Amino acid sequence: MSENAPLLIKDYLDSIANKIDEKIERTMEVIPASVDFKINDLYFEDKCYSFENIAVLFFDLHSSTQMTDVLNNNQLAQIYNIAVGNLVTLLNAFEADFIDIQGDGGFAIFWQKNNHKKALSAAFSITNFNTALVKKLREKYPNLETQGFKVGLAAGKVLVKKYGARGSEWKKPIWAGTPVNYAAKLCQQTTPGNILVTTNFYNQIEHDKYYTHGCNCRNENKDLYFWHERKDIQHLYKTNSAMTTTAALCFNCETDSSYIRKLMKNET
Ligand SMILES: [Zn+2]
Repeated sequence: MSENAPLLIKDYLDSIANKIDEKIERTMEVIPASVDFKINDLYFEDKCYSFENIAVLFFDLHSSTQMTDVLNNNQLAQIYNIAVGNLVTLLNAFEADFIDIQGDGGFAIFWQKNNHKKALSAAFSITNFNTALVKKLREKYPNLETQGFKVGLAAGKVLVKKYGARGSEWKKPIWAGTPVNYAAKLCQQTTPGNILVTTNFYNQIEHDKYYTHGCNCRNENKDLYFWHERKDIQHLYKTNSAMTTTAALCFNCETDSSYIRKLMKNET
């Protein structure tokens, strides 16, 4: 305990009550964040930043409980390193502006130009990554049940502020807003390979045919549109429903790679 630790819990609670009284009287300054906002711009004081329309991508490794049952600590550490480590590299390649990891899951936030498209492109490539990851893991550990990462996406307004105990090392940006909650809930409601997005996220990309139909080699003689509505989970959301797709990047033609190259140069 530090030497400032209160001797009596009552004193401590009284001092918290006083601090709450002070803070409730003070208005918190909320600053609209610009698209070129950097996470290091966050101040450790009474300043809070607001984003009008961010993209949140939640990810979670499927069947990780079974992994902990069948693997030893060294094997687990190795798999987390391969799975989570490479996923972070992938999110970084798609210019995620903030990434937070909690064990075998976490989230990424995108707010710069083309943020929804970059987040969804990252999600498509997570589906490709899952295929490669599961193949490799099965070769070494045939009993593993994991199918890779589950992904949920949401869009909308959030606030961010750095919180922590003064004088302590623990200071962390905290994101508050429905998109963060919805992306987390959607991630729980899906399986690897089935990207699940809120309807308002879908509305951000639905006018770009690349994100609704993709390249021509996906489906011959069928409707190429690759989204489906998930009405069964609408009770979870005020936004009514969610949309799901099994789309992944196509490596058989140039369409996807040339699109992603343009996207990353903000030319789309
Ligand atoms: Zn193709």
